[in-house]
Amino acid sequence: MLASQFRTKANTLLRFSTVAAEPVTPKSRRSFVVLGGVATAGVGAYVAVQHHKKALKEKAAAIFKETKETNVPTRVQNLERLQSGEEFDILVVGGGATGSGVALEAQLRGLSVACIEQEDFASGTSAKSTKLLWAGSRYLVKGLVKLFSLSSFSNPPGAVSEFLGTWHMVMGCFRERTYMLTMNPHITNWVPIAVPLDKWIIWPAPFDYPLAALGPLTGMFVAFFKFYDALSVWTAPASFVMSSSRAVQEFPQMDGHRMKYVSVFYEGQHNDARTNLSIALTAAMHGACVVNYAAATSIIFDDDGIARGAEVSDKASPSPTSFKVNAKKVIYCGGPFTDGMRQLSEGEDVK
Ligand SMILES: Cc1cc2nc3c(=O)[nH]c(=O)nc-3n(C[C@H](O)[C@H](O)[C@H](O)COP(=O)(O)OP(=O)(O)OC[C@H]3O[C@@H](n4cnc5c(N)ncnc54)[C@H](O)[C@@H]3O)c2cc1C
Repeated sequence: MLASQFRTKANTLLRFSTVAAEPVTPKSRRSFVVLGGVATAGVGAYVAVQHHKKALKEKAAAIFKETKETNVPTRVQNLERLQSGEEFDILVVGGGATGSGVALEAQLRGLSVACIEQEDFASGTSAKSTKLLWAGSRYLVKGLVKLFSLSSFSNPPGAVSEFLGTWHMVMGCFRERTYMLTMNPHITNWVPIAVPLDKWIIWPAPFDYPLAALGPLTGMFVAFFKFYDALSVWTAPASFVMSSSRAVQEFPQMDGHRMKYVSVFYEGQHNDARTNLSIALTAAMHGACVVNYAAATSIIFDDDGIARGAEVSDKASPSPTSFKVNAKKVIYCGGPFTDGMRQLSEGEDVK
């Protein structure tokens, strides 16, 4: 080794040893403290999230274990009960999600309930929804946009209170989504939703919010979906960014080549017809008299003009027969058919 090379190496070593031997300054100590704090908070948050997920699973398992399934009476048995002349506290007309839900809720509160559906349960709109169990990303974005818009400056308390209303609604949806996906794994699943971004700057700006125009360029949307993940306490699969080339493979129906990138986040999804049927069956399991292919054809009134039940037609019978069902109250749960139902009691010119 040449003497000059030796000197260079010796100098390098000297420099390293000088750095290592440097006294710890207050600035570097602060950096260590900050780094240590961030690492501890990160580990703490991770442990808390894992604990939360474990607690959810344990709670669900305990409920599964406690739940006793009892036999649901057959349609014939319930039809006989309906025709027996028994006076029910409530007659629910319509066996969609609303009617079945009302029947379950009322039955669990100790009322005696009959629920009739003219076709299959969930034959109406309840089996034709988007089937999404969304937590409300769109509501949240709109709430945030409104909160941070110029109009909020004229009435800050009003703007905050309006935002808090949206916030509570969205957090309620998150809870319900988590509950549905934890308790009903047989009828729910996660569904990835792709937000394709084909420009770096979008104009006109989304939600009429000028800053949102820069969303694709600044990664604002990606950050929002990470925030959305956090709000669900990471119970949903994590959102991610997909390259345009992968998007072509994953979403062949999308013109992926045009995309700059694709932001993907997750929402819940359920089989709405089976959810509806499960609610109707649970109501029946708790004692509600639930019958399908039974249509209300007219409403029965007492002398004071109070509804006291309905004339019901058994549509499954080869020769449809009508019979009276007595009830203290009648509840219409007809969804889009409600105006047709109201004609039963209010006449043809229902408004
Ligand atoms: C395309 C689409 C997407 C949707 N997406 C969503 C969504 O993402 N999220 C959401 O929350 N909601 C969504 N909805 C709305 C949701 O599906 C409805 O609000 C809900 O299903 C209504 O339930 P329902 O029980 O009131 O009505 P329906 O399910 O329509 O039930 C009414 C029932 O009454 C019965 N009936 C009518 N007349 C009689 C009679 N004389 N005697 C006995 N029975 C009778 C009918 O047969 C029917 O089954 C969507 C709806 C549509 C159409």
